Amino acid sequence: MYLRVLGSAAGGGSPQWNCGCANCIAVRAGHAALRPRTQASAAVSADGQHWFLLNASPDVRAQIDSFPALHPRRLRDTPIGGIALNNGDVDACLGLFILREDQPLVVYASEAVERGLREHNALTRTLERRPGQLIWNRLRAGEVVPLVGAAGPSGLTIEAVPVPGTVPLHMKGLAAPTPEDNLALMLRDARGHSLMYAPTTAARTPLLDERARTADVLVFDGTFFRDDELTSLGLTTRSARDMAHWPLGGLEGSLRWLAQLPCRRKILTHINNTNPILRAGAPEHDELRAAGVEAAYDGLEVEL
Ligand SMILES: [Zn+2]
Repeated sequence: MYLRVLGSAAGGGSPQWNCGCANCIAVRAGHAALRPRTQASAAVSADGQHWFLLNASPDVRAQIDSFPALHPRRLRDTPIGGIALNNGDVDACLGLFILREDQPLVVYASEAVERGLREHNALTRTLERRPGQLIWNRLRAGEVVPLVGAAGPSGLTIEAVPVPGTVPLHMKGLAAPTPEDNLALMLRDARGHSLMYAPTTAARTPLLDERARTADVLVFDGTFFRDDELTSLGLTTRSARDMAHWPLGGLEGSLRWLAQLPCRRKILTHINNTNPILRAGAPEHDELRAAGVEAAYDGLEVEL
């Protein structure tokens, strides 16, 4: 299986258009230690020919351009068979509308995510102008299903692992929370290699623990280092945990949990632009390395 990280930042990217934090200033200044990052998404493939996107970020157009394996091979064509969505957040789904040019695509999503997009958003109709333009496949908690793209089987299976999260901000009050609002996506190939993609996770659960242990490669929520990362800057009154992100640092942080997992590689994605792990030389950056955990960057490739 091949994994290509297309984007590694949380919603807003890095730099974020309206952010003047130390990290965003350094990225704009071209500081060598801080690279620009687009919003989190990844591409996976069993054979390097047929690809699936994990989430369609608002930056999807530039992300496809940045990776030749995703370029068309004929006049109208794409090696992308479809998109699997881990939740219904704007930063996970907005890219669907960028991919509207009448290209057959398969979307794998939970019922909650599909309903949010199809019943509460008129823009989705532009993806359904004719039958077969967008094919919806249901992800159900605990079910392992083959990942089949518009041009046929991908050679991968996908399992939806419910993990603590929240209903998307724009759906608050419109839909009751369900366990399938937020998923970790478990991909497996025919050789038994496995990848867990969990870019948004609010907390540890026994199920997450059990599945993460079996993954050869774990791509995990690296949004915030501290619970008060944004509140201490005076940017919001909502803590990391209020925003359904398990912070990395501290005794109860995810870094300690990640450090003891046997996965071959543990890679953080969905990294918020304020996160100190992005600054080489910061103690938090060193803490990451000591835990055997990597920070993803746009263009990171892993073969497993
Ligand atoms: Zn910033």
